[in-house]
Amino acid sequence: DEQPLHAFLEKSAEKYAEKKAIHFMGKELTFAEVFSQSKKMASYMQSLGLQKGDRVAIMLPNCPQAVISYYGALMAGAIVVQTNPLYKERELEYQLNDSGATFIVCLDILLPRVTSVRGNTLLKHTIVTGIKDYLPFPKNLIYPFIQKKEYNMVVKVEPSEETHVWQSIMDQSSETYQKVDVNPKEDLALLQYTGGTTGHPKGVMLTHYNLVSNVQMCDAWLYKTKAGQETVLGVLPFFHVYGMTTVMNISIMAGSKMVLLPKFNPEDVLKTIQKQKPTLFPGAPTIYVGILNHPNLNKYDLSSIEACISGSAPLPIEVQEQFEKITGGNLVEGYGLTESSPVTHSNFVWSKRVNGSVGVPWPDTDSKIFNMENSEEATIGEVGEIAVKGPQIMKGYWNNQEETDNVLKDGWLLTGDLGYMDEDGYFYIVDRKKDMIIAGGYNIYPREVEEVIYEYEGIQEAVVAGIPDPYRGETVKAYVVLKEGYDITEDELNEYCRKQLAAYKVPKIYEFRDELPKTAVGKILRRKLVDEEKEKQL
Ligand code: ATP
Repeated sequence: DEQPLHAFLEKSAEKYAEKKAIHFMGKELTFAEVFSQSKKMASYMQSLGLQKGDRVAIMLPNCPQAVISYYGALMAGAIVVQTNPLYKERELEYQLNDSGATFIVCLDILLPRVTSVRGNTLLKHTIVTGIKDYLPFPKNLIYPFIQKKEYNMVVKVEPSEETHVWQSIMDQSSETYQKVDVNPKEDLALLQYTGGTTGHPKGVMLTHYNLVSNVQMCDAWLYKTKAGQETVLGVLPFFHVYGMTTVMNISIMAGSKMVLLPKFNPEDVLKTIQKQKPTLFPGAPTIYVGILNHPNLNKYDLSSIEACISGSAPLPIEVQEQFEKITGGNLVEGYGLTESSPVTHSNFVWSKRVNGSVGVPWPDTDSKIFNMENSEEATIGEVGEIAVKGPQIMKGYWNNQEETDNVLKDGWLLTGDLGYMDEDGYFYIVDRKKDMIIAGGYNIYPREVEEVIYEYEGIQEAVVAGIPDPYRGETVKAYVVLKEGYDITEDELNEYCRKQLAAYKVPKIYEFRDELPKTAVGKILRRKLVDEEKEKQL
């Protein structure tokens, strides 16, 4: 369907005007309200001179303003640049300069960060909003980036020609804005920076058509009862493409209510599920693990949950089974990447699924495996690089033709992930090409070793990485977090691994930690651990 992404909001505001679109810590907004406020934002941005194709950075946690500024910017003709609110000055400056953003919408407490870099960027206008703009008395809200003592801090924002206050825009701006002609297949809606798990984040160019297609596929695949019967739990951050598509855009399209949580905290999630009764819960393995490990889990009623889709990292089978047991809903695994808006494969939620597999390609999506030696199509069961083709595949990397040419070949996106397909057409991810460990000439897939470690009782999280080794090139190291109340020694774990794995795959070093470094969607940052190791060895 060739339409701009924001047509979803226009249509839903007409069809479901008085229906609730957003629930945020007790405050609710209808579709008509979200649309009206987005129009005001579009109109205001245009009055400041915003032109079609200008980049608008949004640096917000999940909150109503994240949805309104996103749709407002699109309606004004802008390209949205999602910016992680946890970014420090260095990362923020890099992303603003790389994208050339001239507008930014940010939370008041983040303003000092923006102010300190703006002189080195092309920024012309900063729109500032406070969490209190939608919540007169936030009670139990503590952000990861707010210190407890700053919690009740009132941030005073002085409006100026460059600094604009959200509330005044909502009070004073008109809803009349200039409609912009959008060519959905050509025009970008989004510059989405990759998670940065394997290196410097790259700006992925996603068109309106890319994003609209993925939302429609998601609707066809995931939603059992259509037309707004669902309530979607919004724990995944919207500044990452996964939450943006599978929570925010799908809810706006389908007329569903989204329940927003600005931060992942297992206790808050449990309370919110019990009270708001969401039916869909898109997440990532670390989110489900965090909930399952909560000491008071049994006190909560989670039976409203009907379907969960897990992506972004491998889903351990025990986690899947336990989560299904406590909710009574279906949890299936899917797969995707920023470069594909993001979903390309998943299991069926309501019918046949294969545990351990990421499922089959979504409607309109083709996928095949390329043999790594000769780049020909691999045979069934043979491991190679996964490639995908479909309407959700990006236009390329922003200002980076060389990287684009490396991954886009004849319309196929080379994912950098290794996997295979079984005879029924189900796909399995083996590992990332970049994470494969080569130790003494042997290829080792960290994921296989991690799965073995996860099965040992008392393990909460484990990650395996190849660290530099003078003799074997790389050597296998495991980083392990234990569940509370468990005391496991290196020898015990080693003895167990030796029974389960060929000798060359067994970790040579184990390190026990209290926690592991993670990305915004909770993906364990293996690269950071390897970098630490390299620094130590220098
Ligand atoms: P960067 O590309 O900058 O290194 P990133 O890989 O975290 O960062 P994303 O686009 O967020 O960027 O993540 C996509 C990757 O996540 C995929 O290429 C794949 O390696 C991994 N992934 C996604 N879903 C799954 C899954 N179900 N199982 C295993 N890995 C997955």
